Amino acid sequence: MHATHGQAPDELTQAIVNYSVQRTRLDDPPLDHAMSPAELTAAVGQTITPAGIGGMEALRLFVDVLAPACISVDNPRFLSFIPAAPTEASLLFDMLVGASSIYAGSWMEGAGAVFAENQALRWVADLAGFPAGAGGVFVSGGTAGNLSALVAARHHWRSRAGGAHDATRPLIAASSGAHSSIKSAARVMDADVLRVAADDRGRMTGEALRAAVDSLSDVDRARLCVIAATSGTTNIGVIDGLAGAADVAEALGIWFHVDGAYGGAGLAAPSIRHLYDGVERADSFIVDPHKWLFAPFDCCALVYRNPSIAKAAHTQHAEYLDVLTGSDEWNPSDYAHHLSRRARGLPFWFSLATHGTDAYSATIEETLDITRRATKLIANTAYLQLINEPELAIVMFRRIGWTRAEYGAWSNKALYDGIAFVVPSSWDGETVLRFCFVNPLTTMDDVQVILDSLA
Ligand SMILES: *Cc1c(COP(=O)(O)O)cnc(C)c1O
Repeated sequence: MHATHGQAPDELTQAIVNYSVQRTRLDDPPLDHAMSPAELTAAVGQTITPAGIGGMEALRLFVDVLAPACISVDNPRFLSFIPAAPTEASLLFDMLVGASSIYAGSWMEGAGAVFAENQALRWVADLAGFPAGAGGVFVSGGTAGNLSALVAARHHWRSRAGGAHDATRPLIAASSGAHSSIKSAARVMDADVLRVAADDRGRMTGEALRAAVDSLSDVDRARLCVIAATSGTTNIGVIDGLAGAADVAEALGIWFHVDGAYGGAGLAAPSIRHLYDGVERADSFIVDPHKWLFAPFDCCALVYRNPSIAKAAHTQHAEYLDVLTGSDEWNPSDYAHHLSRRARGLPFWFSLATHGTDAYSATIEETLDITRRATKLIANTAYLQLINEPELAIVMFRRIGWTRAEYGAWSNKALYDGIAFVVPSSWDGETVLRFCFVNPLTTMDDVQVILDSLA
């Protein structure tokens, strides 16, 4: 008898499996909302005790109190931030991965899982037009993907300088519309960001980038180690001028990174593929399958043109790891800032393998279609005013005459009434509303209900 490792009672096993299967089948889960720590304490009490409260009781507390205190990100009227809409296939396989005790950091331990993950990564690399030698790894999210790519870029810059830049503070060029994780990575790396002013639509153009680089002193220009472009921005969904950015990176002989955490999925949509021209020249590229590629959290695909550079930047060396670092097998640990890792690419792989890539293209096009129809509806609604013609699946608009407080009050009420989860954002200093569509189950009726509540 072990205190902790006996077989779980059948009743508990069934209860957990039943709940999970039911949840994966909910197309329209309740929105739900947060509760305060005091409310949760009152409802749940102390769950961690010397004797344990038992599985059935812990599960009951989760089902009755804790789960409803989490917003369902896959609710079709969750249009805030970047929503999620995982396929049932991916959710079911996530359960399987959780049950399988696979260590996916090394080929030695996780060869089968890593092989499958790499086929999914290859699809991403092909979408971006990367060469045969490209490769990478699934990391937890865009934040981790950007950091790992930028660290590889810095490594490349320093190693090519043969020691001359070992103590130079790096400089990263990025648009003012770039995601906050670029700045966060710069802080971690003790680097600076050269902020390139975006145009009036929110894009970094090649011309603006070149002008920003030209305005640098010689000393600062020598610090520039990477250009980080965005395909598409998180707030308004526009794609930087990638070909222009690639030209500047090439002229300077520095790394070109493309952050497609949100919008990279659009590469699979024929109607907008041309917007990404130039991405094929990137040295590194990321896209989050947990955003617009219908996989569960957490999952970011990070792909390098030349993975050996990333490996040189990231491989951890330790006596107990010698058997891994001494081999030339593909060890996912080597390609990002991490060591142990879940085979988090497998739910995405399974869904992609199940449905085929054509189905992915079609579903992404469906979300673009609902975005276009919602845009028309907003444009034709008297009390609303459109701010952008969406390039991707984000539409921004104002409720004419509303203050920040009114936007906030409406947003709260909509959530607590179970109507929708739409939070205010801002554009050019003005409070605005923003819909982000990734869920193919969102209907025009859903959109209409939300617009009516804004009247
Ligand atoms: C969401 C996003 C990120 C961060 O991704 P996480 O998975 O949340 O860490 C980075 N860049 C862009 C453009 C994003 O939209």
